[in-house]
Amino acid sequence: MIMRCVVCGKEYPADEIIYTCNECGSVLEVLMETEVSKKIFEGRKWNMWRYKEFLPVDESKKVSLNEGGTPFIKCNNLSKDLKVDLYVKVEGSNPTGSFKDRGMSVGVTKALEFNVDTVGCASTGNTSASLAAYAARAGLRCIVFLPAGKVALGKLAQAMFHGAQVLSIKDNFDKALEIVTKFALGGYLYLLNSVNPFRLEGQKTIAFEILEELNWESPDHIILPVGNAGNISAIWKGIKEFYESDFIDEKPCMIGIQAEGASPIVEAVKKQKLDIKPVKNPETVATAIRIGSPVNYPKALRAIYESNGTALSVSDEEILKAQRLLAKKEGIGVEPASAASIAGLIKLIDDGYLDHGERVVCVLTGHLLKDPKIAINACKKPLEVEPDFNLLKKIIG
Ligand SMILES: *Cc1c(COP(=O)(O)O)cnc(C)c1O
Repeated sequence: MIMRCVVCGKEYPADEIIYTCNECGSVLEVLMETEVSKKIFEGRKWNMWRYKEFLPVDESKKVSLNEGGTPFIKCNNLSKDLKVDLYVKVEGSNPTGSFKDRGMSVGVTKALEFNVDTVGCASTGNTSASLAAYAARAGLRCIVFLPAGKVALGKLAQAMFHGAQVLSIKDNFDKALEIVTKFALGGYLYLLNSVNPFRLEGQKTIAFEILEELNWESPDHIILPVGNAGNISAIWKGIKEFYESDFIDEKPCMIGIQAEGASPIVEAVKKQKLDIKPVKNPETVATAIRIGSPVNYPKALRAIYESNGTALSVSDEEILKAQRLLAKKEGIGVEPASAASIAGLIKLIDDGYLDHGERVVCVLTGHLLKDPKIAINACKKPLEVEPDFNLLKKIIG
């Protein structure tokens, strides 16, 4: 196993702590050689460790809460309305309620391998919730840097309750990441943001599960929200690994969705560029993707171009509308960022980008209750009534 810079190709041994290329400053990826038959997975437990041959840690030493193996659901009602074959991967069903758990399971296992005593991250919320839980399980000290006043309540509750040291930084996520990176490079903590290539190794199992659920057939498109751009990179890496292993014959187009107020990747794709112009003051209700300077942009842009995919932005209004649609039409509750994928799907259909009958998978990244305030504010207050049968009968109608 080695690590390699995705831009200049410089290689590094995988047993030293390094986050970015010391030659060109870009992000690294983990490369390992795995030669197995897909039959090997049969009969194994339905969590992400069924793909242990593709994961860069010793499975017998894993720090796990049974992550992965999340529901893969055909949306019958929305498929009919939108005239596509729509499936969703419900990542809110992971142990702490987002896909970050897949990455943290591998990342915290790696932290133990490296013998560190402290882990840390900057976070819009879910990364800190997940890291706090996995660090607790591993017996590691955990420090999280959050943008002050901007983290959804469910996520903040989790980070604090699992015992992380929570620092509210009086600035945005991008600044918090800049600061925590300084602490990581100074040796104060092991960094578990998605710049850490081992985290993405865990997250690539989303792709593995989608392909296995579809009976080793690729969907036409995979659509997901993009913030720091780690997840789209991870899923594309997973797709390529199963393609190169001959488990599938075709690959999907990767489609990244950003919020209008935080869309540097979308702007780069419009101009077919390989670099981005950071957004200074990113703003959106979808706090999980409120990121102006995504660290994984080199990987994400390559994923989009290599797969013939695209990126587009949606408004906060479109996001909240899609969130309600999913809840009311399919019974699936997600946080706003996750609904961006459905909002994007609707826009792509309206724009004529997607054809009728195409098979689309939307990745629903986090649970509704992560951001309870958004959910409550979207509804009318419940009626307060005396416990009087006749009165209630009139109201129910
Ligand atoms: C982290 C997160 C995202 C964004 O993922 P990136 O890898 O940063 O692009 C989207 N939705 C939710 C719910 C998240 O927690």
